[in-house]
Amino acid sequence: MTAWCSDPAILEQVKTAQPVFWSNPHATRDAPAGVFDAAVDDADARMARSRTLIGELFPGQADLENPICSPLLDVSAFASSLGADGGDVGRWWVKADHQLPVAGSIKARGGFHEVIAYAERVALARGLIASGDDLVTLASDRCRALFEERTIVVGSTGNLGMSIGLMSAALGFQAIVHMSSDAKAWKKQRLRDHGACVVEHAGDYAQAVENGRAAAEQDPLAHFVDDERSVDLFVGYAAAARELAEQLRRQSVVVDADHPLFVYIPCGVGGAPGGLTYGLKRLFGPNVHCLFAEPVQSPCMLVQLIADRLEPVSVYDLGLTNKTEADGLAVGQASMLVAPLMRERLDAVYTLTDAQLLALFREGQECLGLSVEPSAAAALAGPALVTRSPAGRAYLEAHGLADKLKRSNHVLWTTGGSLVPEEERLSLMGRAAFVDPFPGGLFDQA
Ligand SMILES: *Cc1c(COP(=O)(O)O)cnc(C)c1O
Repeated sequence: MTAWCSDPAILEQVKTAQPVFWSNPHATRDAPAGVFDAAVDDADARMARSRTLIGELFPGQADLENPICSPLLDVSAFASSLGADGGDVGRWWVKADHQLPVAGSIKARGGFHEVIAYAERVALARGLIASGDDLVTLASDRCRALFEERTIVVGSTGNLGMSIGLMSAALGFQAIVHMSSDAKAWKKQRLRDHGACVVEHAGDYAQAVENGRAAAEQDPLAHFVDDERSVDLFVGYAAAARELAEQLRRQSVVVDADHPLFVYIPCGVGGAPGGLTYGLKRLFGPNVHCLFAEPVQSPCMLVQLIADRLEPVSVYDLGLTNKTEADGLAVGQASMLVAPLMRERLDAVYTLTDAQLLALFREGQECLGLSVEPSAAAALAGPALVTRSPAGRAYLEAHGLADKLKRSNHVLWTTGGSLVPEEERLSLMGRAAFVDPFPGGLFDQA
C-alpha cells in the first residue's frame, strides 16, 4: 500500500487515524488558469438575477437585498479560546455560512444555484423566459406547472439534500433525496416535513449517491444533482469568493504579498471547499492560502492528493472506517471532478479526531456563541494549527510567512449548523463535555 505514495511517513499517520497537518508539495503559488472561470462568472450573475425569486419563495426567511449572503464576523477577540498562543497572529474572522437562510449551510450556495440553473434551462427551452431575464419569473404559475411534471433527485449526507429538497419543492419540482440509513434522523425528518421524499439506503454516502443516479436514469423527466461530478454545484460555491472579497474590502482588509490571507474550510466530497478555493485563488492568486479540514476517519481529499493518481483512491483502501461525528464530512471518496483541480491549488490539509471536533464544537458554542455543527467546527482549529504546530510553522517558514503573521488575516469558514435542533445540540454538548480532545491539549498536535 505504500507503493503509490511518495510520503510514507504521512501515509502511516493517515492509516492509523492520527491527526496530521500536510502541506501539499504540488501547490503552486500562481494558480493555473481555470477551465471554469466563465462558468463561475455566469453563476455569480445567475444568483444576482435570482435575488427577488429567492425572497419571494421564502418570505420572511431571507434578506430581500441579498438573500444568499452570510456575515463575516470579526472573532479576533476570541483568538485565545481558539488556541492563539498570545503573540500577534493577525485578525481572525468567521465566514458564517452556518447562518445562511433557508438551508442553514454552505449547501445553499451550490445547491440553490444548481436547482435554479436547471429551472432556468427548462423555462428557456419552453420559451417562458429569455436569456438574461430576472429569474423571478420562475415563480410564475406557468413555470410552476412545467416544473410540477419533473423530479429532482439527489444523494446526500443531509445538508445537500436539505438545500436541493427545499429549493426544488419551493419551485414546484418533486424532490427525491437518497440518504444513507445512518444519516442524522432530524435531517431526514425536516426534509419530509418540507415535502421531499426521502429514500434510505444501507451503505454509505457514495452508495446513496449511486442509488440516486441509477433511479434518475430511469426517468427522462428527472434531473440528478451529482455531488461527485456537478459543475453547477462547483461554480455555485466558487461564486462565494467574490462575496468574501467584497466583505474584506469593506472592512479595509488588504490582501497582498505582505498581508497574506488564510482560509480554512471543512471538506467532505470536495465540491464546496474546492469551489471556494478555485474562486479565491482566481481573485487573490499567490496571496491566499487555502486549507481543508477533514476527520481522521474520512480524509478523502487528503488520501486522493497524497496518492497523486488519476484513479480514485478511497479511505477504505487505507483501512479507515469513514465513521465520524462530522456527518457532513463523512465521505470516503473525493470528487474526481474536484481533486485534480486541487492538486496545484490547495495549500494544505489538516485532520482532526472526533474528540477534537466535539471540543471545537463546544468551544464554538460556549466561547464564540456560534451554532455550528461538528463538521463546521473543523474550521475553528485552522489558525492555531498553522501558527503553533510544528508542521504549520514549517509551512509558514517555507513560504516566508512567519514574519508576516501580524499582518495576516484568517477566515474560518463555518459551513453549517444553524438548523441543528436544540435537542440534538444538547446531546452533542453532552458528549462534548466528556471528551479528552488530545493528551497535550487541543492544539498541540503534529
Ligand atoms: C457539505 C458540507 C461540507 C463540505 O462540502 P463538500 O462539498 O461535501 O466537500 C462541510 N460542512 C458542512 C456543514 C457541509 O454540509
